[in-house]
Amino acid sequence: MKVRTRFAPSPTGALHVGGIRTALFAWLVARQAKGQFVLRLEDTDKKREQAGAEEQIINSLKVLGLQYDEGPDCGGQFAPYRQSERLESYKQWAQKLIDKGRAYADPYTVEEVQKFRDEAQKAKKPFLYRNHRPTQPPKWNGKTPLRFQSEPKPYKWHDEVLGDLNTGPEVVDDFILIKSDGYPTYNFSHIIDDAEMEISHVIRGQEFIASTPNYLNLYEALGLERPILATMPHILGPEGKKKLSKRDGAKDVLDYIEAGYLPEALVSFISTLGWNDGTEQEIFTVEELIDKFDLKKVQRSGAKFDEQRLEWTNGHFIREMPLNKLSPIAESFWPEAAERFDEQYKKDVLSLVQERLKFMAELPQLTSFFFSEPKISEVKELFDNPTDRQLKSASKLQIKALLVESAKVLEPSDFTEKDITSRLNGLLEQLNTKPGILFAAIRIAITGSKSSPQLFGTLRVLGKDKSLERLKRAIETLRS
Ligand code: GLU
Repeated sequence: MKVRTRFAPSPTGALHVGGIRTALFAWLVARQAKGQFVLRLEDTDKKREQAGAEEQIINSLKVLGLQYDEGPDCGGQFAPYRQSERLESYKQWAQKLIDKGRAYADPYTVEEVQKFRDEAQKAKKPFLYRNHRPTQPPKWNGKTPLRFQSEPKPYKWHDEVLGDLNTGPEVVDDFILIKSDGYPTYNFSHIIDDAEMEISHVIRGQEFIASTPNYLNLYEALGLERPILATMPHILGPEGKKKLSKRDGAKDVLDYIEAGYLPEALVSFISTLGWNDGTEQEIFTVEELIDKFDLKKVQRSGAKFDEQRLEWTNGHFIREMPLNKLSPIAESFWPEAAERFDEQYKKDVLSLVQERLKFMAELPQLTSFFFSEPKISEVKELFDNPTDRQLKSASKLQIKALLVESAKVLEPSDFTEKDITSRLNGLLEQLNTKPGILFAAIRIAITGSKSSPQLFGTLRVLGKDKSLERLKRAIETLRS
């Protein structure tokens, strides 16, 4: 079988993790089978369309490396790939249904249909449009909706994720194919496009599961073969109860990129939202995913979106990345003051914080003291009101003495990391104090903060002059 999958977003807003996951899984199925992945824009709901959404969708896919083989901006053998440019085709297929007696003009006003609906509700019966099917519908003139004339019956079908499903005839109804504005409904257009574009797998969200029997009915009426269907589980908030919302931290994918999340980390994290390879593995490279991904292992129940796990995943990819590759990515994230410093210095700083960086937007906060003097008021505050238990146990006078001694042993140092390490470790022994006191005090003095990358490396990168200067400044502070 020729494998051709598609991602078919509506340009009604930015792409969130749920949409990206659908795209990723469809992309993986195609890549794995050396098939094609198609991007199709379902832009037939003009009221909900948002300017710029198409561009955002395209950028999101590209930035994550989910390159499509056919799409609105690159064309392909089944172009065009925007539904609004395929109206003629929908009309032709609609005409086929009219000719077969399987579509008819809807003669009712919206109010009339609402009345039928209300009556059904009063009678506590499910509303079915087909119970009101007109006996002699007018000829369709394109100005009223065109409805499908369904042939209700029970269905059995297989979903790659949900397994074997079945429904009774009561869920099959006469739905709208073409709206009064001339645009097709999703229910109609996606079936036509999937068939014309020779799509083998329809991979999509849960919201379409209830309508699937209607689609099966329509495939039959059109004489089309059903594609393979796969329904993705919901993505839930961190508690695993409600559907994921913006409040849970679910941002537009491009926002994550802007905050310095690495595309490969996002891909790995998103792939594990409802899928695993049957082991405990939580981090996957794209190559591993292409090799291991299996629609049959996608879980049926909702998948929890945990932003902390995303941060952890991203941190992993940052740590694994060679410095030469990470450096250009960091470029746009440095604090302003870093502008005056050369590439090598920034690289040295980066290599020190690489270990603890969870995403690039943390760079200014973690590195500002490498580029500008820590505020003396902050240094003073940390010495006046230490929060650390060990540091608290030392008096300010003792701390001052420790800093004086530190400056003294560092004065003759050549400031290689090895030398700094041996001098300060020697001092620790000589003064018989604790690292939690001595090193914590030096850290505060030179960084103006309680935490920093590892201390000896920090001193080396800062350099001798600056380090000594900051130690002296802190000593002054402790005098007052
Ligand atoms: N246009 C639909 C949506 O954005 C696509 C569903 C599908 O993949 O068929 O929800």
